[in-house]
Amino acid sequence: MLSRVTSSFVKVQTCACSQACNIQLQQQQQGCRKIQLAPNNVIAASTQHVRSFSSKSFQTSNSNYLNVLHSSSILVSQGMLKTAERLSCLQLRHSSQYVTGARYVEQLKENDDICEAALRNGQFALFYDLRAFIQGDGASKRMNLVWRGADDMKQVLGIVDGMKLTDAVLMNSTGKDPDQPARFAINIPKADDTLQQSLERLMDAETIGIRRALFTLGRGYLHEYLQAYALLQWHSLQTFCSKCGAKNKKNLAGSRRICSSCSEVHYPTMKPIVITLVTNGDKCLVARQPQFPIGMYSALAGFCDMGETLEDTVRREVAEEVGLEVEDITYCFSQHWPIPSSGLMLGCYATVKEDDQILIDRNELEDAKWMDREEVQSILQQSPGQGSQWFPPRYAIAHQLIAGWAFKK
Ligand SMILES: [Zn+2]
Repeated sequence: MLSRVTSSFVKVQTCACSQACNIQLQQQQQGCRKIQLAPNNVIAASTQHVRSFSSKSFQTSNSNYLNVLHSSSILVSQGMLKTAERLSCLQLRHSSQYVTGARYVEQLKENDDICEAALRNGQFALFYDLRAFIQGDGASKRMNLVWRGADDMKQVLGIVDGMKLTDAVLMNSTGKDPDQPARFAINIPKADDTLQQSLERLMDAETIGIRRALFTLGRGYLHEYLQAYALLQWHSLQTFCSKCGAKNKKNLAGSRRICSSCSEVHYPTMKPIVITLVTNGDKCLVARQPQFPIGMYSALAGFCDMGETLEDTVRREVAEEVGLEVEDITYCFSQHWPIPSSGLMLGCYATVKEDDQILIDRNELEDAKWMDREEVQSILQQSPGQGSQWFPPRYAIAHQLIAGWAFKK
């Protein structure tokens, strides 16, 4: 409803949401009116000048902007209302939940004060030596990261020397539902077996390494695991400044590290990696590196060299590894991949140019061969790890590339 407020609103009002986000409403002036939003964020239409809306921000026609993230009420100055009345309605700016979530995460990354408030009410996933604590997720029995509130996590960290809640890093999954507590992950560096056992007892959960997680966790859960793992790993390896050698310190969200001496800012990096399925009519080329699990074949993959385009890397890697020239290079999709360290996998198809005789580079590959479509389809029917030959698990971009080609209509 629209109601006249007799008191003045000289002070900036702080958001009173349960997340204690401390976000402040700005530009209030004396003689403000208060617009109370209904629970579903639709303004009760006691005035024809107000439209219903589902976003958490709005903009008036004279470009005054109020950020009302998390707030159930907004304050509008007399002047702004008069402008609105002249125009017959407030120009309300719709933001999707995705936009709201993305901007909330950005605020947490950029503003340590906001992040600290979110941290106090956050949820935490614990890692020990980059191995996550997992347990069955309710009735579904799918294994998931174990999430604990701030007080519980403080208690767990209490048995580890020097660890505190502020060592945690922010998870991007916070943006999926900004009305829920922000999500963080925290890693306890490896010590001795006694500590690990004590933590497992306290958490009432087991730990899982990243390679086993690929086969164990559901797709949605795995995505969170991989992001947390990659970010925690980056922080564990970037404790010193690469410019001057002094100690780095992370910002509260863990979105960057700042050198304590030269103030150089270091951001988490992902290395671009091209993964290519080479095809020739009804055949595709699969290969295995010596370090692959026994029986696993995949598409060809390699890091981008400095100065290369994606297409350059595809041509070079295929030529280096299997001695073939390719053309018709098509980019399909990408995926973050944290093993051995954070990479951005760029999935491509390419067709062999002329001769399809393979010349294997034995320094890179243990085997490479053409497989016809029927054989590939048959292998895809098996679970990963079964049979004498198999492909990476469903989550992996290599699996999606191979399956996308094999079942293409
Ligand atoms: Zn430095």
